[in-house]
Amino acid sequence: MSQAGDELFGEEQRDDPLAGAMLDTLAVRAGQRRSMEGEHSEAIYTTSSYVFASAAEAAARFSGEQPGNVYSRYTNPTVRTFEERIAALEGAEQAVATSSGMAAILSTCLALLKSGDHIVCSRSVFGTTTVLLNKYLGKFGVDTSVVPLTDIAAWEAAIRPQTKLLFLETPSNPLCEVGDLAALSALAKRHNVLLVVDNCLCTPALQRPLEMGADIVIHSATKYLDGQGRCLGGVALGRSELMDEVLGFVRSAGPTMSPFNAWVFLKGLETLRLRMEAHSASAMTLARWLTEQPAVEKVFYSGLENHPGHALAAQQQSGFGGVLSFRVVGGREQAWQVIDSTRILSLTANLGDAKTTIVHPATTTHGRLSAEDKAASGITENLIRVAVGLEAIADIKIDLQRGLALI
Ligand SMILES: *Cc1c(COP(=O)(O)O)cnc(C)c1O
Repeated sequence: MSQAGDELFGEEQRDDPLAGAMLDTLAVRAGQRRSMEGEHSEAIYTTSSYVFASAAEAAARFSGEQPGNVYSRYTNPTVRTFEERIAALEGAEQAVATSSGMAAILSTCLALLKSGDHIVCSRSVFGTTTVLLNKYLGKFGVDTSVVPLTDIAAWEAAIRPQTKLLFLETPSNPLCEVGDLAALSALAKRHNVLLVVDNCLCTPALQRPLEMGADIVIHSATKYLDGQGRCLGGVALGRSELMDEVLGFVRSAGPTMSPFNAWVFLKGLETLRLRMEAHSASAMTLARWLTEQPAVEKVFYSGLENHPGHALAAQQQSGFGGVLSFRVVGGREQAWQVIDSTRILSLTANLGDAKTTIVHPATTTHGRLSAEDKAASGITENLIRVAVGLEAIADIKIDLQRGLALI
């Protein structure tokens, strides 16, 4: 269980017993260092700073001559355990934890881009990501072009000499479009730009973009890594050469992850694969059931054979995830009726929770989009998104059936 860097805990260095271990083992064990207290569960180190044995040691720590903790904006043992565990799961050389998913995206962009650079971004990304890139990075001279996720020719056409980074999520939320990671990473390499994948909806339990050629993976740990809707957090992962830059930014700017949140995410990682399989199985059952309902016009879930992204999702993911959406027969009134008739499902925009959530994208998560952008993105007034949780699927069906029966 001990790993390199154990000088802080007085353990002698040994060969890494987790070398070559499988995902389930890494999810439970990677990154843990036991202190002298011998705790079995990971400790939470809630401390802002660290003391030194002598002035000489303080000097050596500050100069970087001697590794070790100085201040929790720089390093924290609980945060480091989370970073090492998620890095092991994604197959990344290094991870940098942040205070939220948005902080991970911001830190990656500010660390690796400069004024005059250009980003090509999928049209189907988290709404706040679009705002961050367009409004805030735009203010500092970083330009963003938006392209349809599945149109590789459009990605290529949007690349300019100033392009530094391609950014996407796959599968997309809420329509489950699937981006071709192998094709996009080949494109990125051909043009010498970085491919950044927000892997929030799949998690490493279902998809590992770095293995398919992505340069950087981003997570909102707030979602499935936590899994129970308790804490905000994020992480960027990739080669050390890139992550050292991101780490430098986080240390200077301060969007660090709190040790308590890191501990919650660590515990979440231990059950991640089991949960993702359960979310995927329930979403599959619900998607099939919805296709049979007369009040449902269309179901969007990449696990369904007739979904345009099905073959690709089956190839690059080991499961289809917990998020699906569907259009009811009718418009906003009918969609709201289904949502307002639920008694168990939570009406909230969050996802990745044990509790199933339901939302009307056109008036909430995607409410800021113009009418044309909504039309182009398929966010119609009769669309409902469900992020399937861990309740008994029979009860979720009853909850949705109540409103569907009124249509
Ligand atoms: C929620 C989310 C984010 C932002 O994460 P926060 O932790 O809320 O800052 C980014 N990307 C995706 C895909 C998300 O769902």
